[in-house]
Amino acid sequence: MATVDQLSSQEAIALEDKYGAHNYHPLPVVLSRGEGVYVWDAEGKRYYDFLSAYSAVNQGHCHPRIVNAMTEQAKTLTLTSRAFYNDTLGPYEKYVTEYFGFDKVLPMNTGAEAVETAIKLARKWAYEKKGVAEHEAQIIVCSNNFHGRTTTIISFSNDEDARKNFGPYTPGFIKIEYDDVHALEEALKSSKTIAGFLVEPIQGEAGVYTPNDDYMRKAQALCNEHNVLFIADEIQTGIARTGALLAVCGNCTCEGHCEKQESYATPDILILGKALSGGAYPVSAVLANDPIMEVIKPGQHGSTFGGNPIAGAVATEALEVVKDEHLAQNARTLGNLFREKMNEYIENSTIVNLVRGRGLLNAILINDTEDSSTAWDICMSLRDNGLLAKPTHGNIIRFAPPLVMNEEQLLDCVSIITKTLKAFEK
Ligand SMILES: *Cc1c(COP(=O)(O)O)cnc(C)c1O
Repeated sequence: MATVDQLSSQEAIALEDKYGAHNYHPLPVVLSRGEGVYVWDAEGKRYYDFLSAYSAVNQGHCHPRIVNAMTEQAKTLTLTSRAFYNDTLGPYEKYVTEYFGFDKVLPMNTGAEAVETAIKLARKWAYEKKGVAEHEAQIIVCSNNFHGRTTTIISFSNDEDARKNFGPYTPGFIKIEYDDVHALEEALKSSKTIAGFLVEPIQGEAGVYTPNDDYMRKAQALCNEHNVLFIADEIQTGIARTGALLAVCGNCTCEGHCEKQESYATPDILILGKALSGGAYPVSAVLANDPIMEVIKPGQHGSTFGGNPIAGAVATEALEVVKDEHLAQNARTLGNLFREKMNEYIENSTIVNLVRGRGLLNAILINDTEDSSTAWDICMSLRDNGLLAKPTHGNIIRFAPPLVMNEEQLLDCVSIITKTLKAFEK
């Protein structure tokens, strides 16, 4: 049987095509190695990674400290289940809760599991603390949201691909427009049975849709006023991606939980995933204070792998790296530079309408219809020029490189991107 290192790109694609479910439409590039901001294909060609596995690899590919923490723990103890205690979970829980400033954490593995956990937590809180009648709790969500792929989560998606023929859908969700404080206020006033407001501080999958600076702050104030939990899904935006530790931290530069009042909002429930492990391992978390988290009792929620020793070791190291390497500051500085350079280009462009984002979570809007292939064609051409990015929602291209990038590399990437776009100008 052929070993992986003998496989050509074409062979690898053929195997996935034949033996794997076709639930993705990847850009045709086969990656076999990664280091920092770079990945290499099966033929040894090097690329800048401008997706970072949807912001999971904020700390860069195969960060030596994270890989070391993972392999050391893998040699020692990998999994006990929560049927027994282990000596890595407690220290990790202490570390992660202090890092983000919450009383407690509920550890899970994937992002969707953490969102499910937050939904269960909010509902249980509503019944047991707020006094909502059983089965009546509702959660407000936003249109064009992306929170994962479980049956319940896709129930409140409005992406037809994600939803169609996967029903019947889970009830109990109210959908409002994103970045619309008035709509939130109306929804909160309309019912006494609302448990929470689940929101992405920037809608990543929707195309890095970046709301007004005061949206989060006003949304939280309204939630507080109505005794409704403010639930932030920071799976994609969190952990330094947007130039602060969390997107809800706004322009706060402290890089950790702080008492400064500069942050946009403090969620009642914070959902993390992706970069919590630096892309080394599936690690997700739900953080909340005791009055909320205490509603979950033994036997009521769990996961065989959630909080396993490797996850704890990896997540702790991944978060240390974020602090030690000042990744939030770097994302802020390079993000400003990136948008400045792209705006200069856009001034004289007919193919790009705008660039938007915060920190190193950005997107450009291609001047074509959503069903056109222009954005895809641009990404193919970027690939040929040594940079990997993917369209989201047809005519939008997301640019989210690892946060360990330096200024010289960023400028190199800007020149690849502008050179590529020039060829598409009409
Ligand atoms: C990626 C993502 C999820 C889902 O995470 P998975 O690990 O893929 O289940 C949920 N919410 C947001 C905002 C995401 O970007």
